[in-house]
Amino acid sequence: MESLKELYKAGPGPSSSHTLAPMRACELFKEHVKDVTHYEVELYGSLSLTGKGHFTDAIIEKTLAPTPTKVLFKTDWDYDFPSGLILKAFNHDRLELTWVVYSLGGGSIKILNSEYDFQKSIYPETSLCEVYEFCKKHKLTLPQYVYHYEPDIKPYLEEMLMVMFASVREGLKQEGLLPGTLKLKRVAKDLHFKASHSTSEDKGKRLKLMAYSYAVSEQNASNQTVVTAPTMGACGILPSLLYYAYYDLGFEKHRLIDALAVAGIFGNLIKTNATISGAIGGCQAEVGSACSMAAAAKAFLDGHSMRIIENAAEIAMEHHLGLTCDPIAGYVMIPCIERNAAAIMRAFDAVFMASTLGDFKDNVVGFDEVVSTMNYTGQKLVVELKETSLGGLATIVNVDKKSV
Ligand code: SF4
Repeated sequence: MESLKELYKAGPGPSSSHTLAPMRACELFKEHVKDVTHYEVELYGSLSLTGKGHFTDAIIEKTLAPTPTKVLFKTDWDYDFPSGLILKAFNHDRLELTWVVYSLGGGSIKILNSEYDFQKSIYPETSLCEVYEFCKKHKLTLPQYVYHYEPDIKPYLEEMLMVMFASVREGLKQEGLLPGTLKLKRVAKDLHFKASHSTSEDKGKRLKLMAYSYAVSEQNASNQTVVTAPTMGACGILPSLLYYAYYDLGFEKHRLIDALAVAGIFGNLIKTNATISGAIGGCQAEVGSACSMAAAAKAFLDGHSMRIIENAAEIAMEHHLGLTCDPIAGYVMIPCIERNAAAIMRAFDAVFMASTLGDFKDNVVGFDEVVSTMNYTGQKLVVELKETSLGGLATIVNVDKKSV
């Protein structure tokens, strides 16, 4: 498995695969070619089909500026990967350099035939069973397992935590409409107001979680800085738990950093053995993965055993299996924003179920098995339902006739 630095990354929304990944590729490309007259960037697969709504062309032009850049939405992709881009640098008519880049999900990139190796393995274990064996043998907790392989990771995790908190805080202040043609109203601030005035403890808690999740997702949809957790489409789930744990429950920061490390193990295992990309596995890979990570983190914060942590993460993933990705007009808004809020509440329920059921029986499905099942299901999902906006909500809902 890779470093947690490859899992948690801060950057501009709305999509890790459609904004952060192209931005990273363009930044590196720019370093390699000096004094060129113009660039051409060709987008393929999901990047081409939903790149407009995901603001892919805008982030590419911005990153390569001031050099003029032409962004082309293409269909004739010859490579064996569902989403990618080709970067070309020109000096007048002469082609100076070409890069073929895959957008792997969560902002990760693979540059074909280059010296860059972002997929370097840091953790030798590749399944939760192996992680547990290692922890048992060396008497380590799950956070200690992370610090064993990445002894310097804590300041980085703290930095990511602070970006997450800032995205909640900023999102709660904003009003008005989200950018784009959907003209969707921001509601995080209203939800938070309602939460603060709730007389019911349970309702107030749920409203707060919703508000925090909406705050981050709305910031993401407005191209503001968020953290991939594990992706930007699913960026509202884990931060809402951590913000709630810190500001409403009074957890100390170092415990939240440990919780981020625990969630990171689960996200990393999903990334290694399945996918966290909506273009490859549908929304089960994004929101399903984020819900699973949040359930693991919540179970850890509640002080549960490794078995309950696994069960909670498993339940959270199992009941997202088959979840499709069909964003309306290609914007990371509908169903994404509401879905993040639904997922944080589902993560809490998964922990509740895991800790209750654990008193009566063993969980039959293991986390490693549900990850394999998610991978299998993602391969079986039709392309129309994998971040192409060619089917599902994207084609059935007629937003022109509605007031959103
Ligand atoms: S539907 Fe899910 S996977 Fe698709 S863009 Fe939205 S959050 Fe990402």
